[in-house]
Amino acid sequence: ADELSPSAQIDYDRLLGGLLIEGFDERSCRSRYQFARYQRNAARVPSPYLIERLRRQEALQKKCGPGTKSYNNAAKQLMSTQSINGTSDCNYLFLIIHAGMGNRMLEITSAFLYALLTGRVLLVDRYKQIASTFCEPFPGTSWLIPSDFPLCYNEFNEHSPESYGNMVQDNVIRGNTYPPFVYLHLDGDYAFHDKLFYCQDDQQFLQGVPWLIMRTDMYFVPSLFLIPSFQDELSKLFPEKDTVFHHLGRYLLHPTNDIWYSATTYYRAYLARADKVVGIQIRIFEKTGIFQRNGPFPHVLQQILSCAQGEKLLPQIGVTTHEAAAGNNSRTVAVLATSLSSWYGDQIRERYGEHRTVDGTTVKVYQPSHEEYQKKKNRKHDMKALAEIYLLSMSDVLITSGFSTFGYVAQGLAGLTPWIMYRPENHVVPEPPCGRAMSIEPCFHQAPYYDCKAKRDADLGKVVPYVRHCEDVSWGLKIV
Ligand code: GDP
Repeated sequence: ADELSPSAQIDYDRLLGGLLIEGFDERSCRSRYQFARYQRNAARVPSPYLIERLRRQEALQKKCGPGTKSYNNAAKQLMSTQSINGTSDCNYLFLIIHAGMGNRMLEITSAFLYALLTGRVLLVDRYKQIASTFCEPFPGTSWLIPSDFPLCYNEFNEHSPESYGNMVQDNVIRGNTYPPFVYLHLDGDYAFHDKLFYCQDDQQFLQGVPWLIMRTDMYFVPSLFLIPSFQDELSKLFPEKDTVFHHLGRYLLHPTNDIWYSATTYYRAYLARADKVVGIQIRIFEKTGIFQRNGPFPHVLQQILSCAQGEKLLPQIGVTTHEAAAGNNSRTVAVLATSLSSWYGDQIRERYGEHRTVDGTTVKVYQPSHEEYQKKKNRKHDMKALAEIYLLSMSDVLITSGFSTFGYVAQGLAGLTPWIMYRPENHVVPEPPCGRAMSIEPCFHQAPYYDCKAKRDADLGKVVPYVRHCEDVSWGLKIV
């Protein structure tokens, strides 16, 4: 984009390098065209082929979406008890949504990529407040499943006979006949046969099924990169392989106005004027019985400080007067802390408030909320979570907590390679406390380890150079 005129450059940025198109009503969803303004680092450039495929997907979503004749026919077919012999132009992937905000964003993005690869229309659960959290991504149609959708999808689980895993296990799949729909159980608790979803032969069968109903809480994209029949298309779509979530997340997910307003107001009030914004995402996975505990844990605080100072992301604090007097610069660093607990942010603020830093930099600490524990079905809580994810994505550098999808989505939207704090064991600060991630991609936690061709377990982190085990979850897979 070097040769663009200044006004063309602004349009280019506003449309995220062509990921977005003009024509949406700006006022009803401000974040769509404003997102680029709040990115502090240069975003990665999408390939022309990805842009072309997004436009084709938009046309498909419109042609087959809710309210069209094709949709009505397809929905009717769902209730038929007979098997069918072939698909039409309009085939569907319906995503049942659940889980926390980070997981939710990952599952929507994974499902969208799968829909794009398999020529399906993506429709999402209309409950779970999706409509009040994210704007419609596709022009001239809706991605929400209509309220008169005929299946009671909430009852589907790992035991459902309609699940692909159970169909394979019960041996009910026959040559060229297909059921009107198949349920794909891709949740954390999934079993061997459910995971055959990641095999090419099974994909070939699924291609003949008009409706796929998917339940997932994970970022399964890395495993799509291991299915040979998808590989050519994926490398055309993403010549820079580690940009899948970065591009698709920014394309699809646009927070609604009230969430966007709260994020941008906070940004302008506290972060915009800082010379550097350091985002620190603190997520603690510790349980006493069934109750989650967020501390206060001194070892976590120590881990945060030794990571931030050791990696020179924050200045050292001068403890002696002599040390503190040495530096004289007028730089300010804003720390954006996010956590369910207020203690860590408060402690960091206190430490930087008590003494000067050795180089004279002023460090201010801000934390938008502290919800104490994760709440289900609470709109205000979800709004805060999403606003904070977007605020983190407006940082210059990011320190995240390993294992947490909340951090993954923030780094992916921002296009920032984070420093990941490894999960402490037995309340001991790990050594080193953190390390630079290999890429900006999220980790697929419940990745399969089955080699479809050899029909036995294998190390899938060693098949291709661009899919490896994650830094924070040794059994997970991520694109690098
Ligand atoms: P993960 O569990 O860390 O992988 O992330 P998820 O986003 O899927 O689920 C955690 C949920 O806990 C979030 O969606 C929020 O509801 C809540 N939560 C966790 N950390 C934070 C935080 O730093 N700020 C806010 N506002 N909520 C958080």
